[in-house]
Amino acid sequence: MRESIKEPARELPVTDTCDVLVAGGGIAGVSAALAAARNGADVLLLEREFGLGGLATLGLIAIFLPLCDGRGNQVCGGICEELFRLSIVHGAEEGYPVPRAWLENSPLEERVKQRFLAQFNPVYFALEMEGLLRREGVRILYGTQAAAVQVEGNRITHVFVENKSGRSAIRARMYVDCTGDADLAARAGVETALFGDKNGLASWYYYISGKKKVRLSMFGLADVRPREADSGQKGTNESADIVSGFRFSGVDGPELSEAVQQAHELMLLDMGKHVREDKEFAPVAMSSIPLVRMSRRICGASTLTVRDDHREMPDSIGMTGDWCKRGPVYEIPFGCLYNPGIVNLLAAGRIISTDDTVWNVTRVIPPCAVTGEAAGTAAAIASDVTKVDIDGLQAQLARHKVLIHIQG
Ligand SMILES: Cc1cc2nc3c(=O)[nH]c(=O)nc-3n(C[C@H](O)[C@H](O)[C@H](O)COP(=O)(O)OP(=O)(O)OC[C@H]3O[C@@H](n4cnc5c(N)ncnc54)[C@H](O)[C@@H]3O)c2cc1C
Repeated sequence: MRESIKEPARELPVTDTCDVLVAGGGIAGVSAALAAARNGADVLLLEREFGLGGLATLGLIAIFLPLCDGRGNQVCGGICEELFRLSIVHGAEEGYPVPRAWLENSPLEERVKQRFLAQFNPVYFALEMEGLLRREGVRILYGTQAAAVQVEGNRITHVFVENKSGRSAIRARMYVDCTGDADLAARAGVETALFGDKNGLASWYYYISGKKKVRLSMFGLADVRPREADSGQKGTNESADIVSGFRFSGVDGPELSEAVQQAHELMLLDMGKHVREDKEFAPVAMSSIPLVRMSRRICGASTLTVRDDHREMPDSIGMTGDWCKRGPVYEIPFGCLYNPGIVNLLAAGRIISTDDTVWNVTRVIPPCAVTGEAAGTAAAIASDVTKVDIDGLQAQLARHKVLIHIQG
């Protein structure tokens, strides 16, 4: 039997209260917090690191994948488009420059030629998002891990947090899980599922070369098993090399730590190869959080599957295209954002309820922003996810320029 110890019960201070507590400040969490604040809620955003953007910025995943369907139609609007524009407000990186056809409202024949995507500078993007949230009244609490929850009946009453001050509790009316790993949901006893194929190693970094230009090395670019790939962008071909046979779930502490160390080791070897070819090569920054694609998700009231391509969803809260294939469009049902077992908890980002195939579609930046905005809006206007007025939610999202249904 595994050795165990009973932690003594103790009195904890309730250090904060709010209407909406968002756990995790990645793209989903930023979008959720912004939407909830714009809908009148007092919002507290918890982030265990000391910057916003999660994988997109601290992980150096600096490519804002397409907001379009690959056939010239925009499918992601609202906060997603706002964040897209913010990400390149200081200019786009040369890997994927500004998609002028989209930003200048060019005709369809121009828009089909390039997908609505860009490569951004993650430092600017993280700082701009922080400024935006502060201006909009979102309270950000950095260095704070949501460690556990207290559940009474079908509601979370408190989230227990750990930070430099020690352990305390925070009380909210509604909670939004944007941790990327469904930490709140799992701790609350909500049914969750792990990605069947686990994760391969990846470790993106920036380097400077002889030309004194800083470039992004997408080391461990492709992972998901090959399927028909046509991203309309160079470099993201799914058949690219997988860097190691080591696979990890993303929710096992020691295994995750080992994965990061193995990725670092391989990254160092990769850098060694570059140095042999280019004496002026020097790495300048590496991802500072683990690069995890799909770990744990909620099992929601609805589950999006690959058969839902172009299917009308009456409770759609927004759409996404498929980043690696032109054509597919998914309307995302509100039911993918909650499990009725806990009525004051919503999920957003790479943890919404999907099958393993569509998960690879919904985990990327645009759908994370779309589901974040919907979850934050719902959390601000409702107190029970099973009783949300869907027409009212859709109308509110539409007012904020969210694209909800496929046109035509
Ligand atoms: C190798 C790789 C390549 C990718 N390539 C692309 C790409 O080119 N383009 C693209 O659009 N997408 C890409 N993605 C996917 C995309 O970057 C992420 O899936 C997306 O940004 C996830 O956003 P999120 O907000 O759901 O989660 P995350 O970005 O994971 O954010 C979760 C946040 O929550 C915080 N957190 C976690 N647990 C807790 C806790 N318990 N308490 C408090 N805070 C917590 C984390 O620190 C983090 O900031 C890639 C992903 C990987 C791994």
